[in-house]
Amino acid sequence: MEDLTESVNNLRAKYREIFKTSAKEIEKRVEELKPEGAGDIFDEYPPKSAGEHWQKSVLKMFDEDICREIYRKWTEILAYRREFSCVGCGTCCRLACSEFSPEELKIKAEHGDNFAAQFLSVFVPYASKEEAGEIYPEYIKMLEKSKEGDVYFYHCPKINDCNRCTDYENRPQICRDFPDNPLSLLPKSCSFYSWRQEVEPVALMLHSMLEIIEYYKEHITLRS
Ligand code: SF4
Ligand code: SF4
Repeated sequence: MEDLTESVNNLRAKYREIFKTSAKEIEKRVEELKPEGAGDIFDEYPPKSAGEHWQKSVLKMFDEDICREIYRKWTEILAYRREFSCVGCGTCCRLACSEFSPEELKIKAEHGDNFAAQFLSVFVPYASKEEAGEIYPEYIKMLEKSKEGDVYFYHCPKINDCNRCTDYENRPQICRDFPDNPLSLLPKSCSFYSWRQEVEPVALMLHSMLEIIEYYKEHITLRS
């Protein structure tokens, strides 16, 4: 059976393929708007020229057409999640990973980062990686192999031995929304796992499109 490291590598390979397809699709839509004689979409064009008009049309098409469609599909994916319910395995309360240390999260929270503030309101760091590893060993091993920089492990002390939240009514929004990202890694014990598997191809495609649009937006130079 595929282990977690293989799953992550396969996911990356799938994403690369999907990214290439999305890039071609977006390029085609950009070219369809191109006026005769214009060069590259990333060239600099004089104000009020046909080239500049093309660039503006492309940016408008991204915002009013593609991004709206991405948002609509993303909303559908999240709405579909409501057909699944948490079975209370407790893993997401017992092991939360972050690329940020507690100190960094504190600074982010002080600067208005709502996610960081909510995260710190419930999660505390594990004393050691070994202690965190007892919750989900496969996950920790996969992180070790991937060597993608520092990862900090946290747990919430509000979960009891029966996997029940002892402050359920007051749990923050991040707990109510979990899992809010169809591309996050979920343990197989999670009842949202099959939802995630089902929506993954579309979620990857939407994510790739957003990345590509972001690239276009950053590199299109408007002079007026
Ligand atoms: S507050 Fe409750 S739901 Fe949120 S992480 Fe803690 S135990 Fe889990
Ligand atoms: S990992 Fe999934 S099933 Fe387990 S407690 Fe969290 S949301 Fe519920």
